[in-house]
Amino acid sequence: MSRVYNFSAGPACLPEEVLRQCAAEMLEYGTSGMSVMEMSHRSKDFEAIINQAEADLRELVGIPDNYRVLFLQGGGNTQFAMVPMNLMRNRVADYIITGQWAKKAAAEAELFGKVNRIASSADKTFSYIPDCSDLPVSPDADYVYICQNNTIYGTVFHTLPDTKGKDLVSDVSSMLLSEPMDVTKYGVVWGGVQKNVGPAGVTIVIIRDDLIREDVLPGTPTMLRYKTHADNKSLYNTPPCWNIYVCGLVFKWLKEMGGLEEMQRRNIAKAQVLYDFLDGSHMFHGTVRKEDRSLMNVPFVTGDEELDKRFIAAATAAGFKNLKGHRTVGGMRASIYNAMPMEGVQALVAFMAEFEKANG
Ligand SMILES: *Cc1c(COP(=O)(O)O)cnc(C)c1O
Repeated sequence: MSRVYNFSAGPACLPEEVLRQCAAEMLEYGTSGMSVMEMSHRSKDFEAIINQAEADLRELVGIPDNYRVLFLQGGGNTQFAMVPMNLMRNRVADYIITGQWAKKAAAEAELFGKVNRIASSADKTFSYIPDCSDLPVSPDADYVYICQNNTIYGTVFHTLPDTKGKDLVSDVSSMLLSEPMDVTKYGVVWGGVQKNVGPAGVTIVIIRDDLIREDVLPGTPTMLRYKTHADNKSLYNTPPCWNIYVCGLVFKWLKEMGGLEEMQRRNIAKAQVLYDFLDGSHMFHGTVRKEDRSLMNVPFVTGDEELDKRFIAAATAAGFKNLKGHRTVGGMRASIYNAMPMEGVQALVAFMAEFEKANG
């Protein structure tokens, strides 16, 4: 067996300890005589798994009692519709456009009501986060929406926007559990787990009690109502049992590693190694305004597409996988989530330095 350094933006690398535990428990979970994949979602064993996962997540993040945790399906893209269907009572919402995912979310919300794009960084290919200290928030907006860490462009809101009293809805797919998070600042905060938490197939939604209501938009399907899932503790229908189990193992792993403050410390240290190299390199350059740089997704270019291609080919051959930038941006992108060890980043930087010397 030879595991590579996988810099994929998602699905992405998982902690090796967690994968080993999955392997060890693959044929028999505890004394159940079966794999988690074969269990009824109504069984005592699975009930214990999902309850423990929620309890560990609540403890890790410090989720207050007036927020519910939902384990949903349909990926991030389904949240683009669920958010407006459940929250757009006035049929108005404000969106801050910082990349593809925010753009898609806004376009989907437009199926249901009026969308005001109150700030955008489209003018400079989403390479920065716009000033959100004094936004033209609409008086009748049901919520203000952001994509907090922009997976494709490598920007992050280091400061949350001033929503002038409106509920903030945030897509944290590519930064969930990478650092501490003050849940009380959000009405709804959600993330697909396949970036920084677990295997594709689960979306974690953390939502304040009072936003879980009956009076959703007319025609909202049962499965797309937050209330359906909140009332049934995420067991209204068959959930992705295995995926929730693996997320639970990752929560335990994060607790063992020292929790979210320790993850933040590690993530800052890892990103620093890469950004410091980029800042000193004559060949490779970061593409994002310095103060808005993400700790999770680091896009970079050489400025020469042919050279980019040669670099990606050489890196791939050397065991640094999935460094190709998003198809809409080009260049390279290194995603360095929780499960990417410091050694992986150091090895990548050493490889880049060597490549620069040989081809400079
Ligand atoms: C990947 C991603 C999505 C889309 O998730 P799917 O599960 O593929 O629908 C949405 N938002 C962000 C920030 C992402 O990184």
